[in-house]
Amino acid sequence: MKTIGLLGGMSWESTLGYYKKINEGVRNALGGLHSAEIVMYSVDFEPIEKLQQAGDWEGTTDILIEAAKNVQSAGADFLLICTNTMHKIAPEIEAAVQIPLLHIADATADVLVNEGIKTVGLLGTAFTMEQEFYKGRLKNNYGLEVLVPNRADREIVHRVIYQELCLGETEADSKVEYLRIISALSDQGAEAVILGCTEIGMLVNQVDTDVRLLDTTAIHAEKAVEYAITGS
Ligand code: GLU
Repeated sequence: MKTIGLLGGMSWESTLGYYKKINEGVRNALGGLHSAEIVMYSVDFEPIEKLQQAGDWEGTTDILIEAAKNVQSAGADFLLICTNTMHKIAPEIEAAVQIPLLHIADATADVLVNEGIKTVGLLGTAFTMEQEFYKGRLKNNYGLEVLVPNRADREIVHRVIYQELCLGETEADSKVEYLRIISALSDQGAEAVILGCTEIGMLVNQVDTDVRLLDTTAIHAEKAVEYAITGS
């Protein structure tokens, strides 16, 4: 079994989900007392969030490259960045280490392509919903059409992520809002909606809606288990 490298702490609330899901996945695959071999570097999120707000992506790159190198030197065979947003700088991180990076958007797109889905809604931070690093990869590499909420709804989705979910808070009103926004994306033609932020699964789940949801934390964790066990 390969050793899984996690770049976590963005936020740590969602990294908990990765740790649990990966270990459950290995136990389900191998049985008995098997558990995952994991190396993790969990960052302090506050300075990273400040740099994001300031648009200082180079500052975030310096921090995450250093952390990724630490994960590599601690013995990881491959790397996961445990946040959708910070995949904005995935190319820089990938170039700075020798171990492969399992990209969260590729893992998610594989599921969509397998299910024959062509038009998909995307929820995430404003960075993920509005910039091209994530939507562009889905469009250009997989031919997917990506719908995002309107501006007012994007603001709600973004605010709930940073002011509630990253602090471990799940509010009933926010869940109602998210389900309304998911439903609106479905009405606009989305055949499924990507929960493109690793904390959203703390708030909404498949049992809450008939719209097909793709939880990127679960998908990324599953991909890591598969890669650790089968090597592909
Ligand atoms: N975990 C979030 C994501 O998946 C947001 C936190 C961050 O800015 O990294 O995008």
